[in-house]
Formats: sequence, C-alpha cells, structure tokens
Amino acid sequence: MVSQTWATAPPPLDPRTLPGPVWVVAPHPDDEALGCGALLCALTDLGQEVWALLLTDGGFSHPASRAYPRPRLGELRLHEWRSGLAQLGVPPDRTRALGLLDGALSGYDPVEVREAVGRAFAAAPPGTVLMPWSRDPHPDHRAAWKLVGAAVSSEARRLAYTVWLPERGGPADWPAPNEATPWRFAVGAARSRKAAAVAAHATQLGLITDDPAGFTLAPGMVERALDGPELYFEVLPPTKEIP
Ligand SMILES: [Zn+2]
Repeated sequence: MVSQTWATAPPPLDPRTLPGPVWVVAPHPDDEALGCGALLCALTDLGQEVWALLLTDGGFSHPASRAYPRPRLGELRLHEWRSGLAQLGVPPDRTRALGLLDGALSGYDPVEVREAVGRAFAAAPPGTVLMPWSRDPHPDHRAAWKLVGAAVSSEARRLAYTVWLPERGGPADWPAPNEATPWRFAVGAARSRKAAAVAAHATQLGLITDDPAGFTLAPGMVERALDGPELYFEVLPPTKEIP
C-alpha cells in the first residue's frame, strides 16, 4: 500500500550499495522486523555486518497486566527482540539496548541520549543507519529520528524505514517531493524469515490475555508488512547544528 503521492514506484534498493557496518535502530522491539526484515535478511545473507540498537524497553504495551508487570514484560520483549533478529541473521552479540522508557522518548535529555547512542555505535561505527522515518505516526518514532540522528556521522548513509505510515499516516506525513530519495525493497523469498522474526514478538500477538486494553498488532498490518515492498526514504544529513 503506497500513498497517492507515491503512485510512481520508487526504484529498487540494491543492498550491495549500502556501506557497512549497517545499524538498524528500533524504538520498540518489532519495529525492525516489521519495517526492514527483508532488507536485513538480504544484508546478512551477503555477509554484511549488521548491528541492532533498541531504544526503549517496550514495557508500555500492556500497562494493566498483572501477569506481565513492566520489568517482566521488558525482559521478555528484549528476549523476543533478540530472537527475531537472529531469524534475520543478526546475532545477539551485535545487539545493544538502551532500556529507555517506552512511550516517553520525547521526554529525555537529547544530549544524554545522543551520547548513549554514540557509545553503542562505537562498537562498530556505522556506514549505514536504518531508522524510523521522521514522521512515522508514533511519538517515540518521531522522537527517535531527532535523538538518534544527532549521533549519526555525516559520512554515514541514513535510510528511514516505515512502520505505521501506510496505515496511520496522513498525506503530510509522507515525504514531500525532494525531501528524500525513495527506495523500495521487495520481500520476495525472505517472507518466511521475516514472518518468523515478527512471530517472535508473541507479547504483541496475543500472548498476554489479562489486559483487554493492551496492544496487539493488527493482522492486516502484519500482512501488509510481510507482503511488502519495504519502503525506505534516504535523507541527506541535516545541516550542522552546534550542540
Ligand atoms: Zn515502534
């Protein structure tokens, strides 16, 4: 599903053109699987060095659950995240998690977050960073764009991926003409591995039954993500700002 402003199909993204190491940044566990599972498969199949950075604990999805209070939920979601990434070829020792509070990213001190992201990136300075689009319709995703973007070197390629944009985005949330270079990446044969990566997130797929208002990924949204194509918007680094 592509917005009307994207009626002309973007060109296909060739994963061999992305310099490594490649980092995928996820505000919540499952964003990376839904948004770029197929591209991550392709990159790791090519032998590219792929790392993953998780910003929040994901612990706000079921706030009323007694069986899964926040610490337990956060621990389980971290385990799910690493399991899903392993399906995509990213080993646990190439994952980093900051443990910030789910739902509250915009409240953090930008300098502290930038420094924490910088410390994570120092393990393998990124040649390419995949991060949610600046207007992907979730407050944490939008906050992540600024917080993480400040830690990305101007030499690295930065490709924005989409999670909620096709279902929840308004016309103004899509990139304006000349705001970004769009790419598409077909899911193709990676569908089963992408599906396994998404399925690793059982807490988001109905595992928790004692919080009726808790979050569950809509089947239609998951199907759309599995059908693809994945969309990427490549942006130039922002003009230099004095911190
Ligand atoms: Zn998210």
